[in-house]
Amino acid sequence: MSFEDKVAFITGSARGIGKEIATAFAKEGATVIISDINAEACQETTKELKAQGLSAESFPCDVTRLEGVEEIVNKILDKYKHIDILINNAGITKDNLFLRMREAEWDAVLTVNLKGTFNCCKAVAKPMLKARKGKIISIASVIGILGNIGQANYAASKAGIIGLTKSLAREFASRNINVNAVAPGYIKTEMTDQLKEETKQEILKNVPLSRMGTPADVAGVCLFLASKDADYITGQTIKIDGGMAI
Ligand code: NDP
Repeated sequence: MSFEDKVAFITGSARGIGKEIATAFAKEGATVIISDINAEACQETTKELKAQGLSAESFPCDVTRLEGVEEIVNKILDKYKHIDILINNAGITKDNLFLRMREAEWDAVLTVNLKGTFNCCKAVAKPMLKARKGKIISIASVIGILGNIGQANYAASKAGIIGLTKSLAREFASRNINVNAVAPGYIKTEMTDQLKEETKQEILKNVPLSRMGTPADVAGVCLFLASKDADYITGQTIKIDGGMAI
């Protein structure tokens, strides 16, 4: 699987799953755009990748501001002339039981997760449509399929991403642009490391493969979906959840 000469714009890629995805694409020869709200973290991650001899460039950006995203996309295009792959990975949680959930918690999660994905798709759509090729992959969640107590805002945002993916897949198909999503289950990250051991064991009871996923599990499916091998796949949401949502 080679991504030589491909430019991959990955949001929220300074750390966590996004960083793993960026590293995986860079190792396969892509130039990766490390983009995150935290400029310092972007530079740090970019430096790390470059130190491994990989091709990476830091373009910090807050996905909630369409104008800012368009500015970044124009800068990337000025420098590299094309964006071949967009990975919508930036995402947040603000969990609360619905009766206690404040409007601000709803708005924040919907704005980063769903509006942020809209903004990035909007900004890359024109250049991809013009180039008559492109791969858009958004990181949804099994929570967007199953729902979850205390995560009405997060579940709605991720279900929204799945609907957006299906619609854009239909709209962009005639221009050879594949639009897919992945729905990770419980992935071992800094966030899930903080769960109590008994909570982890409780979660694993619902995972047929009896283990948490890894960021590499997610990165591997993103590589596949962005590759030529997945040219006939569009509008899909691939679950990466150890069988949790069969
Ligand atoms: P992290 O919090 O580790 O990483 C998310 C990154 O997105 C952070 O670097 C964060 O920056 C950045 N970010 C937040 N807000 C914005 C914004 N407005 N603009 C640009 N960047 C922003 O999360 P994970 O790596 O765990 O998750 C990555 C994606 O995977 C998310 O979409 C998440 O919903 C999804 N996911 C994760 C699962 C898991 O088990 N971890 C399971 C299923 C889905 P900062 O930290 O500086 O705020």
